[in-house]
Amino acid sequence: MNSPIYLDYAATTPVDPAVALAMSECLTLDGSFGNAASRSHFYGWKAEELVEAARSQLANCIGADPREIVWTSGATESNNLALKGTIDARAERPLHIITSQIEHKSVLDACGYLGEHGVEVSYVAPSVNGDVSLAAIAAELRANTCLISLMHANNETGVINDIAALGEFCRDKGILLHVDAAQTLGKIALNVAELNIDLMSMSAHKLYGPKGIGALYVRRHPDVRLSAQIHGGGHERGMRSGTLPTHQIVGFGKAAEVAATNIDEEKARIFSLREQFWRGIYELDGVHLNGGKALCLPGIVNVGFDGIDGETLLMSLRGLAISTGSACASATMEPSYVLTAMGNSSEYAHNSLRFSFGRFTQAEDIDTAVESIRHAHAALSPKLVQART
Ligand code: PMP
Repeated sequence: MNSPIYLDYAATTPVDPAVALAMSECLTLDGSFGNAASRSHFYGWKAEELVEAARSQLANCIGADPREIVWTSGATESNNLALKGTIDARAERPLHIITSQIEHKSVLDACGYLGEHGVEVSYVAPSVNGDVSLAAIAAELRANTCLISLMHANNETGVINDIAALGEFCRDKGILLHVDAAQTLGKIALNVAELNIDLMSMSAHKLYGPKGIGALYVRRHPDVRLSAQIHGGGHERGMRSGTLPTHQIVGFGKAAEVAATNIDEEKARIFSLREQFWRGIYELDGVHLNGGKALCLPGIVNVGFDGIDGETLLMSLRGLAISTGSACASATMEPSYVLTAMGNSSEYAHNSLRFSFGRFTQAEDIDTAVESIRHAHAALSPKLVQART
């Protein structure tokens, strides 16, 4: 059997061959395997040099200073560090955080934990289009609000939030802004200085880098203070201890560099794949684009199929590797909390699938996907099934 066509780039991406090569040079005795914290010999110096080069590559990709990058194990850890670290670093109580109902679980659950420990948390609902408006956030503001956490783009719908407007608002009010950019890093232009971001979570495996490495951008400013959540040898200026995984970091740096070199062309190419995909299925009976009226990432398309159960449809699309909702939530049989927060019924949320495209997706893959969907739709569509019986 041929391997299914991979259309789940929002869950993770394959490592780019140039990234894999750079990583492989950091593993064995004849490579740069040293511990970047070994200050007394060549192997340590070499590893440190590579780690710092990668820090610059990532910083360049987001308009930051390399000293503002803290390596972590992924965006989950970055989100935890940003949220818990900000609260722990402040003595005042009670503190208030604003976030949205459609954040990744690593933000929602970290906020839930803080909520159990006396922090007040407001969860703002998205609009029916899937974006979270500045007006809705501003309505939740309190005198003790110290942090607003909002994702740049949603991982299920691809809907992009207006971070520029929120950044201006937060800076003006003296409130810290944390942005989860796991889905947007290297996919759309992202400049932390221009957007007035204080803290930003990133992950390599959404960007053709390896799993298990991420970073948190921490703006160098006295107002941006973080307490470490992992204690130990004091690596990363005390913000995140643990021996630096040189190969992972080198891979992340290379991935960021590769993405930054052709971000506009790649965005245009993937956008045309999205158009091709939607053109192929939009006129099918009962098919809807979730979040389609908002500004969206080119690579994510979330589609609802009236009256067709997503799991059943998924089974009929065995030639495609796709998902119902996000990979993180697909272990549970719960309907997508993102789609229900947008005002959809649980049933409709169960009838929706996410297709996501990326660097190795070709026009022929989209043709095959469209053909498979049309075929499955014809077999499963309630009206057509009814007409046949
Ligand atoms: N935030 C968002 C928006 C994500 O899509 C993901 C990955 N699904 C994460 C955070 C978590 O990233 P990681 O897998 O690096 O922990």
